[in-house]
Amino acid sequence: MKLTKYSAVVLSVAFTFFISACSSLGMNIFSDADEVALGANVANEIAANQQEYPVFRGDPALKQYIKSQIFDQILVANAIKKRSVYQYELEIIDRPDVLNAFALPGGKVYVYTGLLKYLDSEAALAGVIGHEIAHAERRHATQRMTTQYGTAMLISLVLGQNPNQYVEIAANLFAGLSLLSNSRSAEDESDKFSIEYLKETRFYPGGVKFFFEKLRDDGKVSAGGGGLETFLSTHPDPIARISTTDKRLKETGFSVFSYTNYAGQGVFRNEYVQNITNRLPK
Ligand SMILES: [Zn+2]
Repeated sequence: MKLTKYSAVVLSVAFTFFISACSSLGMNIFSDADEVALGANVANEIAANQQEYPVFRGDPALKQYIKSQIFDQILVANAIKKRSVYQYELEIIDRPDVLNAFALPGGKVYVYTGLLKYLDSEAALAGVIGHEIAHAERRHATQRMTTQYGTAMLISLVLGQNPNQYVEIAANLFAGLSLLSNSRSAEDESDKFSIEYLKETRFYPGGVKFFFEKLRDDGKVSAGGGGLETFLSTHPDPIARISTTDKRLKETGFSVFSYTNYAGQGVFRNEYVQNITNRLPK
């Protein structure tokens, strides 16, 4: 396709306009199928990098327990819309030094052993997993890519180049997972949906904030050390998110309690120690 200089400029202006309209509406140029293909692509890259993302090869009952007792129980919530479209899967990364979790487009959720070691209740882990599932459900990564890179991708598509190009571009952009650093608004939306999902489970719906409360109480939020750099870069502003979660719990009629001072329902601390903590390498 041959373009004059003038028509290229018109196209570029038109797409810039289209993209700014997209970002304000939270639109996404990726289809669900793209989302799955993109996620599979990144998952392969992760699997090939065992140095950085070593798969947990200890007691297989650890992953089985988290999958059947937490992950799968969240996935059946009515508020989850894409369970038959995306390929929701759980993976445990054996990095005791990393306190983090992340999700890929299309539904693969990764949890680090450092986080499992640090948490102390099933509700807290369910809160984090619900939050990560929400990133996939709400398509935060590709939404952000639409805003940041959409113009260039769309122009190259319209110019009749390789139609698969944007999937390749996307995969390259994910190298190093820099695009999994979510915006504050994406983080906030995931916290909100974590509550929505957990409301339908046996877990206390505010579990997502237990992790932040524990970080706060341990003085880790501003310290930076202990594997928290990656967590804080991908999950900004934990303190404000505690009060926002408390506010949401109140609004939906749930009692507000913290991870140290809880009424007992839906927290499952002993179960966590028995089935998760005790299965991690000492
Ligand atoms: Zn997040």
